[in-house]
This record gives sequence, C-alpha cells and structure tokens, in this order.
Amino acid sequence: MEKVVIVRYSELHLKGKNRGYFERVLITNIEKALKGLKHELKRQSGRYLVENFDELDVDDIVSRLKKVFGIHSLSVALKVNSDINAIFKAAEEVCFDCGSFKVETHRADKTFPLNSLQISAEIGGRLLSKYKALSVNVHNPQFIVNIDVRENGTSLVFNEFFKGAGGMPVGSSGKGLLLISGGIDSPVAGHMIAKRGMQINCIHFHSYPYTNMQARDKVIELAKVLSQYTGGTKLNIVSVTHIQEEIHKKCNGEYMVTLLRRFMMRIAEAVATKCGAQCLITGESLGQVASQTIEGITSSNSVVKNLPVLRPLCGFDKDEIIERSRDMGAYDISIQPFEDCCTVFLPKHPVIKPSMKSILEEEDKLEVEKLIEEAISSLEVLTL
Ligand code: ATP
Ligand code: MG
Repeated sequence: MEKVVIVRYSELHLKGKNRGYFERVLITNIEKALKGLKHELKRQSGRYLVENFDELDVDDIVSRLKKVFGIHSLSVALKVNSDINAIFKAAEEVCFDCGSFKVETHRADKTFPLNSLQISAEIGGRLLSKYKALSVNVHNPQFIVNIDVRENGTSLVFNEFFKGAGGMPVGSSGKGLLLISGGIDSPVAGHMIAKRGMQINCIHFHSYPYTNMQARDKVIELAKVLSQYTGGTKLNIVSVTHIQEEIHKKCNGEYMVTLLRRFMMRIAEAVATKCGAQCLITGESLGQVASQTIEGITSSNSVVKNLPVLRPLCGFDKDEIIERSRDMGAYDISIQPFEDCCTVFLPKHPVIKPSMKSILEEEDKLEVEKLIEEAISSLEVLTL
C-alpha cells in the first residue's frame, strides 16, 4: 500500500486544441512547486499522481500544490492493487471508526469482476461489521470513502478532497508587469491575474532615503509571497526620489500624487517593454482614494502609450480585497507600518478630480523625459 497525491486539474478541458500545451505548462509548474522534494509525477487519464515521495513530506506537498494555479482539487490516497481484499485494507485505513459515511466507487476498469455499486456495497458492508459505531447515510454522510478502480490494475482509496487554487497554469497567458507597492491591494491584483495564467514580473518605486530599507524589504517579502503562486518572479526596483523632489520643488503640491503616478506608469511601460511584458497591472480600485477617481485613473492611464492596463480590483470593496489578501498569505506583511513613496511629500489636500489642462501645466514645469531616463538608470532587478 503506497501513499500518493491525486492532482485534478481545472478548466484545462475547456481549451480544446490547446490542451496539450496547457498541460505541459501545468506539469512544469507542478515540478517547480515540488522542487527539492523527492517525488515522481505520473499522468493518469485526466489527472496526475504524485508518487514515490517521503511520507513525512505529504503535508508539504499538498500545501505547495494548493498554490499552483490550474489545479482543481487534490486528494491524499492509498494506492493498492485492484483486488477487493486490498481495497478493503486501504478502506479500513481511511475510514473513521465512528460517524455516518458512505462508499462511493468509480470504476474505470470494466474488467473488474464487481461493478461500482457492488464494490461500494461490499466494502461498506465490511466496514460496518468492523466498526460498530459506524452508520450508513447516503444523502448526508459525515465522510465518504472514495474508491477509484483505475484502468491499469491499481485502485486509489481516499476520504478527502482539498480545494486547489483553480484558474489556469501560470505561463499559459503571457506576461504582465505588476506595479507593486507595500500596500494591501497590489499583491492581490497580481495574484488575481496570475490565476488567469499570466506570468507576473513586478516593479516597485521607492523614495530612499525618504523611505527606509524596511519599506523595501516589505515589498520584497510581498513579491516572494506572490512568487509562491507564480513559480518565481522578477522584482524591478526603481528610485523616484529625484522625481518627487523635483515635483515638490517646482509644482503645485496638490498634484504630487497625480504627477508621480504618471511618472510611474511611463517608467513601468518602458520597463515592461524591455522585459517582454504585454500589459501593466495595478491594484487600483475605483473611488478608493483621491488618486483613484475616474479622473485620476484617466490621468495616469493616458500616459501609457501601447500596453493595456489591467485593474482587476476596480469593482471590489476594501473588505473583499482584505479577504483575498488574507487568503493568499500577504495581509500580515502588507499591514506592517512602513511608508511607501507616495506618502512622502503627501499634500494635505490632494486634488481629487484633476483636470487634464492643469495636470499638463504642472507637468510642463518638469524635464519629464530626462527624469524618466535617470530613474530607469537606477533600475535594480531581483530574481525571487
Ligand atoms: P496598494 O494597497 O496596492 O498600495 P493603495 O490603495 O495604497 O494600493 P495607491 O497608493 O493609490 O492605492 O496605489 C494605487 C496603485 O498604484 C497600487 O495598487 C499600485 O499598483 C500602484 N502603486 C502605488 N504606489 C506604488 C509604488 N511605490 N510602487 C509601485 N506601484 C505603486
Ligand atoms: Mg499604496
């Protein structure tokens, strides 16, 4: 009797002709996630089995695979030869000794002497005689003993389904560049787009020495959390200190955030183009703060020339975003109180509905191209 992990995939079956490609990407991602752990990955009609691992690693394997997009569900199962006595032995192992239960059998091997109903009845009957405190409840059981009689002469027996991350395998939908701050929203935005199969690179803007190194470390930690779902990421770090100083010196302070956002978007587009990313991703949510009114978004959007900007959180309330942040494991890092660059030089009354005319007037006071080039020359890339 051997412990194995059943990996069922999601949505891939919708992809028709591309199915082979999607599967290859998924296999690569599973292998990346399990790197460093002894195992073998085998394909078995419409699912994968992780086998030959050290039993002590089973929880680690499941928790790593729970973060791989494209996986629908997981089960830890016992694999035995397709023989009714061997199946019963495994069923004894996964069965609790009290409570209500039912046995559910799926028989792919039509040469097996009993059909699925007969297998369920036989195993259920034997379990009932062994464990006196068990009762059968087919409509609302406390647990289910699942039996899968496979075509290859082996059977899988298990009692639990773990929900997978769903979505599509990362790398199957191109590459995007996420503008990541130290806040709650942007890591969630990256997570949502990664779930649709997009490989994510990150870019962060800092104002060191006005912001401290802890703010930077916090963003690195957040990008690392995200990278658990994307099988790695590249974090581009760019200084906008001089840009903020120039805006502070030469422009109306109420426009600090608006102008800085426009610089960020321009720099991000340039870096995206350099690293082959096909879109920008932000954590903006409509109306959440002054810079995220439709006027604010229009102003920052209008400097991006060639790439689409994805804003997956646009229709979400803050509490929905927080829930997702907790689920992905980023929240406790995001709420650490280190300032990101926008809060330095923050005006008391940022302009809420900036008019394009006044933005352009303010921007005219700056050497935009030169400041952008200078910022890009400070670029540092971390591979996480
Ligand atoms: P977040 O929680 O992601 O910081 P927020 O609610 O604080 O978002 P803003 O500060 O207005 O909102 O930022 C809006 C979006 O702009 C962020 O989600 C992020 O995509 C981008 N952004 C803001 N500051 C930075 C930064 N320092 N570096 C990179 N991107 C940033
Ligand atoms: Mg922020």
